[in-house]
Amino acid sequence: MEPSKSANLPRNMIENSMFEEEPDVVDLTFPALDPDEITYEPRSSRLLVRGLGENDMDEDEEDCESSARLLGMSFMNRSSSHRPSSSPYTRQSPSRSCSRPTARTMVACVLFLVIVASMTMVLYFLPGCTFTKDGCPKRNKTTPLELVYPLATNGELFPWTQLRLPQSVHPLSYELTLTPDLDNMTFAGIAVINMSVLHNTNRIVLHGLNLNISNATFKIGDGPASNVTVLQYKANQQIAVKFTEYLKVGQYCVLTLTYSANLSSTYDGFYSSSYTDKSGTKHILAATQFEPLSARKAFPCFDEPAFKATFLIKINRKQNYTTLSNMPQKIVALDGLFQDEFERTSVNMSTYLVAFVVANFSPISKNVSGTLVSVYSVPEKKEHTEYALEAASKLLEFYNTFFDIDYPLKKLDLVAIPDFLAGAMENWGLITFRETTLLVGKDSSPLEKQVVASVVAHELAHQWFGNLVTMRWWNDLWLNEGFATYMQYLSLQEVFPELQAENLFLSVRFRVMDKDALISSHPVSTAVVTPEQVEEMFDSVSYEKGASILLMLNAYLPGEQQFRKGIIQYLKQFSGSNTETNNLWDSLTQNVSEMMSSWTSLKGFPLVSVSRKGDEVTLTQEHFLLTPANASHTSSLWEIPVTYVNDSCSVGTFKVPESVKWLKLNYQNTGYYIVDYGDDGWTALINALSTNVSILTFEDRASLIHNMFALSRQGRVSFRRVLSLLNYTYKETETAPVTEALLQLNNIYRLLEKRQEFDLMSCMKTYILDHFGALMDNQTWGEEENLSKQELRSALLSMACSLEKENCTQSANDMFKQYVSNQTRRIPGDLQQVVFSVAAQSRTDWLILYDMYKQSTVDAEKRNMLLGLASTQDTQLLAKILNEGLKGDVIQTQELPLIINTVSRGFAGYLFAWDFVQVNWDRLIEKFLVGSFAIQSIIKSVTSPFSTQAHLDQVKAFFSSLQERGSQMRSVQEALETIRLNQLWMERNLSTLRELLTKIQSQPQKEEPGVSH
Ligand SMILES: [Zn+2]
Repeated sequence: MEPSKSANLPRNMIENSMFEEEPDVVDLTFPALDPDEITYEPRSSRLLVRGLGENDMDEDEEDCESSARLLGMSFMNRSSSHRPSSSPYTRQSPSRSCSRPTARTMVACVLFLVIVASMTMVLYFLPGCTFTKDGCPKRNKTTPLELVYPLATNGELFPWTQLRLPQSVHPLSYELTLTPDLDNMTFAGIAVINMSVLHNTNRIVLHGLNLNISNATFKIGDGPASNVTVLQYKANQQIAVKFTEYLKVGQYCVLTLTYSANLSSTYDGFYSSSYTDKSGTKHILAATQFEPLSARKAFPCFDEPAFKATFLIKINRKQNYTTLSNMPQKIVALDGLFQDEFERTSVNMSTYLVAFVVANFSPISKNVSGTLVSVYSVPEKKEHTEYALEAASKLLEFYNTFFDIDYPLKKLDLVAIPDFLAGAMENWGLITFRETTLLVGKDSSPLEKQVVASVVAHELAHQWFGNLVTMRWWNDLWLNEGFATYMQYLSLQEVFPELQAENLFLSVRFRVMDKDALISSHPVSTAVVTPEQVEEMFDSVSYEKGASILLMLNAYLPGEQQFRKGIIQYLKQFSGSNTETNNLWDSLTQNVSEMMSSWTSLKGFPLVSVSRKGDEVTLTQEHFLLTPANASHTSSLWEIPVTYVNDSCSVGTFKVPESVKWLKLNYQNTGYYIVDYGDDGWTALINALSTNVSILTFEDRASLIHNMFALSRQGRVSFRRVLSLLNYTYKETETAPVTEALLQLNNIYRLLEKRQEFDLMSCMKTYILDHFGALMDNQTWGEEENLSKQELRSALLSMACSLEKENCTQSANDMFKQYVSNQTRRIPGDLQQVVFSVAAQSRTDWLILYDMYKQSTVDAEKRNMLLGLASTQDTQLLAKILNEGLKGDVIQTQELPLIINTVSRGFAGYLFAWDFVQVNWDRLIEKFLVGSFAIQSIIKSVTSPFSTQAHLDQVKAFFSSLQERGSQMRSVQEALETIRLNQLWMERNLSTLRELLTKIQSQPQKEEPGVSH
């Protein structure tokens, strides 16, 4: 509600409210882009990327630029040599020359088109007021609204109406004393909050939720403390103190609150967790998870990221516990209980980064450049902590150098918490992890180590991106998460090249594009206000799209170090403070701000269509949406740094000789866009690949497969065309293209299964085995050291076994039997899931596996066992595993989203899982919170198998019945759109598929590219 600025209020009150009501965040997202509200000119009249071949631009760069400007754009061109060892996310040094391709190396011509016109157009269509601090005038000017204050719990008026806190008082420091009682699952606290007054005000409003405040005192400066009444307004999770006298600008004051609360039984706030050791003894512990909005459940605070302060934390504990917090421990004093006092934080930090743990963990430690790095786990898993310590030490040194700023604290703890929902949490100096993302055995495979190293790399990057420099508000969460995700891949490439993170990064880029092509997606920077909206920002758009556009930017910027220099500049300039997206672009170079803001402020991504006439290449862009009906409504235009590679080379222009046979855009898929080459362009690429696979990098081949399936899903290309591309895969042996093709085919196979198209499934099975059978048969079942080969083997064999390819299931069963008889013979990590999934299909073996699960203390293996258990097709056992996941004794509830996902894939379980989610919805949102990543994942898992109107209606009816318990979630919109798309795809392609697959089944042809229309 917007309070009126009417003159009914006393003068000082008006000034006061002017200060307070005006948010200090100028929202740079573009609400006016709502297609329903603006009339755009028809798309066809806007040419964005035009074939530069129309202009004679191949002489030199200057001519090119001037000609390009005539078209309303500027561009730069650059060529770079393709080095087979290069990764898509490290800068490649540009080379000005372009040599003929040889058998082994190929020359990539990289052309960057910067379409200045596009942003100008976007700006042009926005009403001018969008960019002013006042925003657009309110429509209802004539009837000013009364400022209506809500009622606090005690019946008095609560002095604040908004979800965001007023800016008049800022916290400087907190002193927290906490006394957790793990026997009774409660805790008591005293919070002493020092504040400074920035604007005259007669109220202090801060956050607090489910805290029973028993006493509150307030004092100004060194004056006497007096009792005050604390008002609580639960709906906004706020508390407030009202004053009769105004607090004056420049005053310092102290609010002291004594309170108690229950330890949370969910995964956020100050929550209790437990584990049972090998001897069967149950241990209780307590830990925190505050991001994004749960610090307020543990102590009263200004719980917004821009209210940074220092923290001094004391925890009273029993003798048999130890405690950890952000800072090193200073004193242990005895006062009935032990009191652990931690040093005051040497840095100003946001509340969501505060953390403490009360447990009895044991550490291993190492000194790294003046920082004591320790890894903690439950005592019996101590032997699994070494790899994490080694990884954290190396990565800490890497980041200290890369960012040119030393990690600012004296210690860095990495703690594996037995029941923990997120993958990990970057609390400053006290990073908390799931056990599966921190603990690996000495003999673990590279794939298992990759998981740990990736998560550690991500969380360590946050110590700079997020902790040192923090987004001002959650609308720019990507500044934390996109960066940490990008740095995670970049640092792994540098520090642990043997972990081959490039395949992983490539596939996550494909997956986020699949999601981002939905109408229900959102821009990277999105306005958020409510707690549910904030929770929803933790999705792949903030993480993986954020990382993808940073990769694109790094590939675009000239020179090895440009990107790095820019982020060093950014970190140094904003160290200790808060930022918005534009602060980052401004730190990089003058030029990227316009280009990059199209990627952060617009929803989705472009489809670039290529057409060639003679030597002219024409590129056009449009918003790529899977639901085509609405495509004409959007007028989003991006500045796309276009790159390309072809079989010849022509530097400096987008005019390619007629003799050039094929052309592939988005070299190594570093750009966040997809490409349609048109009939002739696709045919040329398909022909070229069928002759020689290695003319394109593996990233390029994988991206062709991904783009082709996306275009087919949208209806732009026929499924016939998809299959003609896949014909080349007989010769494909690289991990990324094979796994992408298998994933896409498997998606279709699973949809057919749910529609009970058993004949078609059998055709599809023949098709898959025909194309990949030989490669499947080539896989071995022994230890494999190469990580990329592990990934390939794992994908191929799990597909083979799920299609019940006989030699696969036989080998898996044999391996399981050997393992049961002699558990010292470890199953290679990458094969565990395949082996356990096959075994779990027999009821006897399922029960054996279930017992082994209960006994196992190796977390990665345990997870694979669980994936096996959840893949059974026995409905009684499915019910058991789902219910155990909800109960949380044998199987920790943190695993429930994973169980639901696995159960939903199977034919026996998908309806069952949907039913389970509906019946248990209230328990699920109590445990995981509306909008959270876990809930998003659960909704996606149970609804994505559907492709019929009946199921669409069911899903719609269920979620709309929820109202405030989740009906407004974006993931519900995504689910409905996905079902509609599945439905549409089936209607469109079922008959073609039947015709094509039956033909293929009757006469398999191997070498023919077979392009036909
Ligand atoms: Zn993160």
